[in-house]
Amino acid sequence: MKNNWSDRQASRYIKHYKGLGFNEDTALRVYTSRLLGEQKKLVIHGGGNTSVKTREKDLDGKFTEVLRVKGSGWNLNTIEPEGLPAVKLGPLLSMLSKNKLDDVDMVNFQKRNLLNINSPNPSVETFLHAFLPHKYVDHTHADSILAITNRPNGLKLCKSIFGKNVGYVPYIMPGFDLAKKVYQIYKKDESVNTLILMNHGIFTFSDDAKESYSLMIKAVSQAEKYIKKTSKKNLSGKIKQSKLRPDQIGPILRGLVCDDENSSSFIVNYRKTTTLLNYLNGKNFKSYSQQGTVTPDHVIRIKPTPLLIDATYANSIDEFKKLALKSISAYKAKYINYFKTHARNRKLKMLDPYPRLIYVKGVGLFSVGTDLKSCEINADLAETNADVVMKVESSSTYKTISKQHIFDIEYWSLEQAKLGRINKALQGKVVVITGGLGTIGMATCETFKNEGAEVILLDSLKPNDNVSKGTFFHCDVTNRKQVREVFSKISMIYGGIDILVSNAGNVYDGQIGSISDTDLRESFDINFFSHQICASEAISIMLKQSMPGCLLFNISKQSVNPGYNFGPYGLPKTALLALCKQYAVDYGPMGIRSNGINADRIKSGILNQRMIERRAKARKVSPLEYMQGNLLSKEVTASDVAQAFLHLALSKKTTGAVLTVDGGNIAASMR
Ligand code: ZN
Repeated sequence: MKNNWSDRQASRYIKHYKGLGFNEDTALRVYTSRLLGEQKKLVIHGGGNTSVKTREKDLDGKFTEVLRVKGSGWNLNTIEPEGLPAVKLGPLLSMLSKNKLDDVDMVNFQKRNLLNINSPNPSVETFLHAFLPHKYVDHTHADSILAITNRPNGLKLCKSIFGKNVGYVPYIMPGFDLAKKVYQIYKKDESVNTLILMNHGIFTFSDDAKESYSLMIKAVSQAEKYIKKTSKKNLSGKIKQSKLRPDQIGPILRGLVCDDENSSSFIVNYRKTTTLLNYLNGKNFKSYSQQGTVTPDHVIRIKPTPLLIDATYANSIDEFKKLALKSISAYKAKYINYFKTHARNRKLKMLDPYPRLIYVKGVGLFSVGTDLKSCEINADLAETNADVVMKVESSSTYKTISKQHIFDIEYWSLEQAKLGRINKALQGKVVVITGGLGTIGMATCETFKNEGAEVILLDSLKPNDNVSKGTFFHCDVTNRKQVREVFSKISMIYGGIDILVSNAGNVYDGQIGSISDTDLRESFDINFFSHQICASEAISIMLKQSMPGCLLFNISKQSVNPGYNFGPYGLPKTALLALCKQYAVDYGPMGIRSNGINADRIKSGILNQRMIERRAKARKVSPLEYMQGNLLSKEVTASDVAQAFLHLALSKKTTGAVLTVDGGNIAASMR
């Protein structure tokens, strides 16, 4: 591994942070923390932590010794001094005389010795950093160190690889006990500047920032060299491809891991890389995949073991569905048993029993998460685990800590706190909005995102900067082939669709007796057929998921209350009202709801200033009177429509309903 230290960069950091009021110690701590964080083979997704011992001025003007240590919620590659909360060092060191300190007391003690009480929580490894006397302490879960320690003869092997000044710590759960143990081992031989924590990671330390960082790179490079030299086994078994496609499999798996009764929804994301395929097709997959994660804190995200489903035997998607149902039921039963065995009379609440990683032989990996971001993190962790395990297996056999140790980390309250669960009404739900770039589309997107949903926008226009990357698909919704292709991509990324907001539309006006057939057909294409195409394609995915779904149509008050010279727009909207009800009738028994909104006079791309003036003229009123021409005399906005869509999405017992959002119009009211 390359040592990326640069004297010039170091000076730049010192200068930059001096300008912001931070001393040289902290500036260099930020610099080398980022150097570590930038190397994915050292640190991913919040793994690893660093610290520096320095002096800082308190509010009373007196200088005090502090430990700046990584705070929770920060990643090393983007760390700032605020992500390294300062804890008073004296009090931390006074705890050296203690033999035991429970988790609650440990967290309390760390928190109440913060210089700034608004800082993030200091790392669970704070005491370990404090007890080592060196100014700089660096800690990572480097892949190559894990590949050396997670084997039957790991300790012996380490001793032959790393040589002098390296100490070894047997596996102990992080926290106060580990901090004490590390201190004892260090005290026995104070020439030690590197500690290998078996099955966990590595600490390096020095009074010099560059040296502490360089020791890390040195040890990691030694481990890498050993792995390269010794790997020789041919690891892959037979590689068979499944006939089934990932966009068919995603929705099935998603339906099986979502538990609507308990309001728990997941996103299921498909990934296929060489690393994952090598792991999945390894000869010993069945044994190494059941061992546990390569470093303990991965378990809180990806559970102790993945699930394997062999799709190479399934000839049809129905056959796969049966197989998947059986496999997931077996996984659940095994997880419940694991919980019962290891909870051992402690008052713990079982976490959900669903897998976070599902390997489908012949297809690839499906990662399960509460949102897309956590799916991606889980898949990244899967790749790290796959890479480390295969490195071990290339010359030995993967072996890690006991299931009891793994369980203790999975159910450790301090680890669970890192996940910071937020339960929003639509968390884990996938929402597709057509006409997504329009005024109503954007307002609906914001409203649904605020409730935790994953929102995907479809539009035939080009997105502007308002749309965050990855949530937009270019699509002509009047073209079934295009819709099918986009929905297939959505199924691979998100594992399906829960809510379709069929909102695309376009205005056509003119006297009905003189409108051209071409214009009328065009209006039917966008104002009726696009809804039918999107709804029917969404339904086919919802049926694969076998879970409740919801169709929401932007109908229009024109469907019940035709406007003068507005037939070309009103007629397909009337047909759309019937379509909305038809879906409610045909798919109610499958738990799929179908509802609509009759909105009127919403300022948008369709009802622009020019159109407002025309409609006002048709009604013989001023544009302002036209916009406020309702019982409440209030203009109705796109966000009112978005709120109504949300309301219908959340009303689990409502189907075949049409909600008016028009400020009150008796002639257009539903009866
Ligand atoms: Zn660690």
